[in-house]
Amino acid sequence: MTNPNDRALSRADRQAMPLALDVAVEIAKQHGVCIRPVLLRRMDVHTGITEDVNVPCGTTMEAKCPSCAKRNRYLRMAQCREGWHLEAEPSTTPDEPTEEQRWLVEFRADMQAQRDAAEQAGHDTTDLNAVLIGLDEEINAVGMRGSLRGRTAPKRNRSTKRRQDAPDLPKKVRQNTTLGRTFTSSDGMVYRPSLFITLTLPSYGRIRAGQGVPVDPNTYDYPRAARDALHFSKLVDRFVQNLRRVAGYDVQYFSSVEPQKRLAPHLHMAVRGTMARAEVKAIAAATYHQVWWPSVDEVKFNGEQLPVWVKRADLPDGETYPDGQDGDYLDPATGEVLPTWHEALDRLDADEATEPLHVVRFGPQVDVQGVLGGTPDADQCIRYLSKYLTKSLGDTLDPDNPAQHQHAARMIEALHYEPCSAACPNWLRYGVQPKGAKAGMTPGRCRGKAHKPEHLGYAGRRVLVSRKWSNKTLSEHKRDRRTWVMEALGLADEPTDPHRYLWKPVPAGDGTIPSLALRLLRMVAERQRWRATLLALEAKATALPTPDPSSTREAA
Ligand SMILES: [Zn+2]
Ligand SMILES: [Zn+2]
Repeated sequence: MTNPNDRALSRADRQAMPLALDVAVEIAKQHGVCIRPVLLRRMDVHTGITEDVNVPCGTTMEAKCPSCAKRNRYLRMAQCREGWHLEAEPSTTPDEPTEEQRWLVEFRADMQAQRDAAEQAGHDTTDLNAVLIGLDEEINAVGMRGSLRGRTAPKRNRSTKRRQDAPDLPKKVRQNTTLGRTFTSSDGMVYRPSLFITLTLPSYGRIRAGQGVPVDPNTYDYPRAARDALHFSKLVDRFVQNLRRVAGYDVQYFSSVEPQKRLAPHLHMAVRGTMARAEVKAIAAATYHQVWWPSVDEVKFNGEQLPVWVKRADLPDGETYPDGQDGDYLDPATGEVLPTWHEALDRLDADEATEPLHVVRFGPQVDVQGVLGGTPDADQCIRYLSKYLTKSLGDTLDPDNPAQHQHAARMIEALHYEPCSAACPNWLRYGVQPKGAKAGMTPGRCRGKAHKPEHLGYAGRRVLVSRKWSNKTLSEHKRDRRTWVMEALGLADEPTDPHRYLWKPVPAGDGTIPSLALRLLRMVAERQRWRATLLALEAKATALPTPDPSSTREAA
């Protein structure tokens, strides 16, 4: 334990000792400091010096603390502003993996090894799992396509019947540009109009005004609401495809998926360039997504009567089954092997009479607003786009409104046995083996995000940005800020040698770890020093460009 009389402690540290953790957390929040920092031990291979570094949870973990969520929101706002009214084509040649990407991949490999070792030793791997999920996101965010695990099965070729029909919309010849049209007024001013679109899902039953709860819960269409939420991101993809088809140029967008009070996801989208309002509305009305999945009309296994897992005969050394499964689920009464995911889809393809399991469409409420770059209107839309990014879909519930909680509970119930993906264990309930089935799967016990109260069916990304939105990825925006701060301080930014540091988690039970309260207060003190220096520099250097007001928040 740390001794309060230890001379090595700074005054701030000693003052911090009697403070309870919750006080430290409050102070950290006020200063925009991460309240759930991950402690990592970093060895500098150049100098041999080892130090413990508090890495903000927002850089490695999926679940972000309020401070990191807020900082992330500012970054997203900067990213949105950057691309909306772009005047020249963004350069798009980022195909060579950058140093940062390589570094992330190596760091991930390192963390994976740590996690596997921890698991082998029977230690808790919750934190390391979260770090890995965060790193995967980060790796995708810096522009790499797909995940490191790669594709396991070849992509299916659907029969023509199953192809999603292109809706009946006028099609223009595609110009090779991502920029919108400009308009020049009689006095020579150039206007660069763009669009702000809001799309919602249809009605599932009448809603009590202001409360977001059904007038009649018994007739409210929860199953439909659940399926629409599950497949919402596919519908958004279709909308973008159709928008591009009709617009006649390579439309770029920045959008966010946010919760409505009635707990349905809806979409705000900043679109670069402009189109007629009526055209956008026609596209939204014509857009749909068909879900070609096996039927879930009939419950085949339930309660104690669940399919049983039987291992397949071993293959010769080094060979694996093409579907990646080394066993199958059997009907417990007859011993019959249930169709695998691919067999079930083949049966669907062969049956001319089948209907899609579900068809998602937008509701009739479509809002289209014209926005000019650099106007207060544009700023307001950007704030609106990022308004709920710090909240999860389930967070909009009023704690004092029992009707809202009952509404959320009914939605969760509707999602309970609904298959959330091809790999969902719920397929066993309907007599189909989930894709990539393995031992230990139980219907109703899927751990997918979509079934959880905080996601309410929507497990996709909250921010969707097209590839040619701006010249920068989110990580580059982060780095921009850091570089600005370093330059302002007259410090050269560290050269990014990807092999300079070796990282590992600090073992639990290491006696030298300071308490979380102490770590938080040290981070606050650091942040304050940083800020004071920065403010002094800003006062002196009048020649410096005005920084973005939120950039000081990035200094860490
Ligand atoms: Zn954090
Ligand atoms: Zn699931």
